[in-house]
Amino acid sequence: MRRYSVFAIAREAMRYHEGWERAWPAPTPKPRYDVIVVGAGGHGLATAYYLGKNFGITNVAVIEKGWLGGGNTGRNTTIIRSNYLQDPSSAIYEKARSLYEGLSRDLNYNVMFSPRGLLMLAQTEHEVRGYKRTVNANDLQGIETRWIGPQEVKDLVPMINLHGPRYPVLGALLQERGGTARHDAVAWGYARGCAAMGMHILQNCEVTAIRSENGQVSEVETTRGTIGCKKLAIVVAGHSSVMAEKAGFRLPVESMALQALVSEPIKPMIDVVVMANTVHGYLSQSDKGELVIGGGTDGFVNYSQRGSWQHVEETIRALIETFPPISRLRMLRQWGGIVDMTGDRSPILSKTPVGNIFINCGWGTGGFKAIPGSGWAMAELVANGEPGPLAADFGLERFREGRFIDESVAAGVAH
Ligand SMILES: Cc1cc2nc3c(=O)[nH]c(=O)nc-3n(C[C@H](O)[C@H](O)[C@H](O)COP(=O)(O)OP(=O)(O)OC[C@H]3O[C@@H](n4cnc5c(N)ncnc54)[C@H](O)[C@@H]3O)c2cc1C
Repeated sequence: MRRYSVFAIAREAMRYHEGWERAWPAPTPKPRYDVIVVGAGGHGLATAYYLGKNFGITNVAVIEKGWLGGGNTGRNTTIIRSNYLQDPSSAIYEKARSLYEGLSRDLNYNVMFSPRGLLMLAQTEHEVRGYKRTVNANDLQGIETRWIGPQEVKDLVPMINLHGPRYPVLGALLQERGGTARHDAVAWGYARGCAAMGMHILQNCEVTAIRSENGQVSEVETTRGTIGCKKLAIVVAGHSSVMAEKAGFRLPVESMALQALVSEPIKPMIDVVVMANTVHGYLSQSDKGELVIGGGTDGFVNYSQRGSWQHVEETIRALIETFPPISRLRMLRQWGGIVDMTGDRSPILSKTPVGNIFINCGWGTGGFKAIPGSGWAMAELVANGEPGPLAADFGLERFREGRFIDESVAAGVAH
């Protein structure tokens, strides 16, 4: 496939942009692949990409029931950070964050990574203690974060009201190299990278059954026919427990909707990402000028990929006290995605009870930021059949052994 470059743009400008090829082809499924990845979200596509790039495995299909990036990858609020508390988490999230730094060049696709800085506001004494502890942990892990006082918060976010009647701003945890990226572009960039290596991306192709022989995966039944495989990677976020059931095992995962919304576009008013976890809301401003706003998950298990009025009201009501100007904005769009929550709020990258089936899920409300690191670690797991150092602690057995990676403080509010 032809590389994108300034010369390509100039050449196409001279011929009315008629020479661009498809960003990725729409192939006919082969009868058999070495590896099938189910789910063309960011994690599935990144898994396939690093299988090819790091291990030379390119006889791969990524199978997607809808359109690629149409799941949570295209529905999130794009926050990227690595300021987690536990060592295994910060290792994989920091791997992802550092890969994001060079991802546009690596993929030859502009993912618009914007390390604009990320603040987690402390609005109770409990949060002050929690975030100072995280700063200390990050220091030991080699991750750059720092604690800042209220005045520095005000300097970074002039519109903020430090003296809210219920929750004054007592300081914040700042990660200067945290930020955002364009979520669709991350999926599109990885898809193009996979296609360039000859992999097949099969859209509108739902996996309806998984078959195994002698305890080893053998084929998947899809809406486009039966396809054989030597290895199967299940990377379907909110539908993980549904897929696991098809393969014959159970997962300690609950699925529920997480919603978000954007305001009408306005002139630049905030150039960092701010999370207010006490009131459960966060915001940033997109390059188009919209305020991108999110809150907590629905409080009940469900599979509805849509927004709801009460959620908009709940989230905006929570944020207005700290960010008064947003009360004047009209809201433009809202939506939801189905996130996969584990009890310890940490992901699962694991072998499964069925031979050569591997699962990557449990990223819950915060997996966009992890895509490159997760794909890297999952590719290692699929290629070698055993987890490498990044995935080693995230196996399914931790739930049986009570060896949780508790991120309920750092990731309970996630994103
Ligand atoms: C509103 C919202 C806000 C969020 N905000 C953030 C944030 O700011 N920062 C952050 O880091 N994370 C955030 N997240 C979480 C993040 O989006 C997810 O953790 C991440 O995108 C998961 O990626 P994925 O590739 O695993 O899943 P997905 O992108 O959901 O991809 C899974 C794919 O599997 C496909 N699939 C399912 N079943 C089948 C089947 N039977 N056959 C074939 N294909 C199938 C689906 O169609 C889907 O495309 C947010 C999520 C939501 C919903």
